[in-house]
Amino acid sequence: MEIVRTVEDLRAQVRAWRAAGLTVAVVPTMGALHEGHVSLVRHALEHADRVVATLFVNPTQFGANEDLDSYPRDEARDAGMLQAAGCGMLFAPGVTVMYPDGFATRVEVDGLTDALCGAARPGHFNGVSQVVAKLLNQAQADIAVFGQKDWQQLAVVTRMARDLDIPTRIIGAPTVREADGLAMSSRNRYLSEAERAVAPALARVMRETAEQVAGGAEAGPACRAGIDALLAAGFRSVDYLEVRTADDLAPVTRFNPTVACRIFGAAHLGRARLIDNMPVG
Ligand code: AMP
Repeated sequence: MEIVRTVEDLRAQVRAWRAAGLTVAVVPTMGALHEGHVSLVRHALEHADRVVATLFVNPTQFGANEDLDSYPRDEARDAGMLQAAGCGMLFAPGVTVMYPDGFATRVEVDGLTDALCGAARPGHFNGVSQVVAKLLNQAQADIAVFGQKDWQQLAVVTRMARDLDIPTRIIGAPTVREADGLAMSSRNRYLSEAERAVAPALARVMRETAEQVAGGAEAGPACRAGIDALLAAGFRSVDYLEVRTADDLAPVTRFNPTVACRIFGAAHLGRARLIDNMPVG
């Protein structure tokens, strides 16, 4: 598996594949890979002949007090995992390739970014849409695969690609979980042993709350009880626990089986901020 660091080299390989009649998928990541990322590569290979993974810890999507400097980085290990998964190329650009001197363009998606992680992490999704717009334009792939684990990100990227007529088709892939239900995340490695034992409570409480809402409970009170349960389980604070429509992320008061909706949660445990989401009903 070749590792390339310039847009020219990336495009040359993608062009060569497409000239040979092969379809190409791109899988954007920030590295520190786990089985969730690997599943995206496998998913991509079901939809395309060749997969390009990207590895870039994008500074513009981190807040001032967030973990940009300490974000885990191990390119050699990541490359080995990608190669084993059948990835054909890794694009791992430096910051100056992505944001050269004089870079001045913002990409912002309104509405979808107001709530949930958009409210808890101001500016985060502007950084995400900015870097994903660049990666999609750089790769010129047929499809791009994103995890449903970051459902709001998937919604934002899908809307951006539609609004900007980016021809790459956006595909969502299911969340991969540990055996105890914890959604895999690069940030899980921040957890101490004791915190790791508490962490599955997020998925468990979310599943229980989703079942209550699907069974007719009002979403607001059910989510407030869920927040209390998370704090009692040992979470330091809860950014949100909410039921929203799957497509537009509009607030949901009561479950309506004709409208797809999901429960979304984000909570702090030790120095990790964990997020998850799952269907209601
Ligand atoms: P990240 O490296 O955390 O920016 O994630 C890169 C991609 O992997 C994103 O599309 C994420 O949604 C996806 N991803 C992260 N964790 C998981 C998981 N547990 N299951 C499936 N996809 C995931």
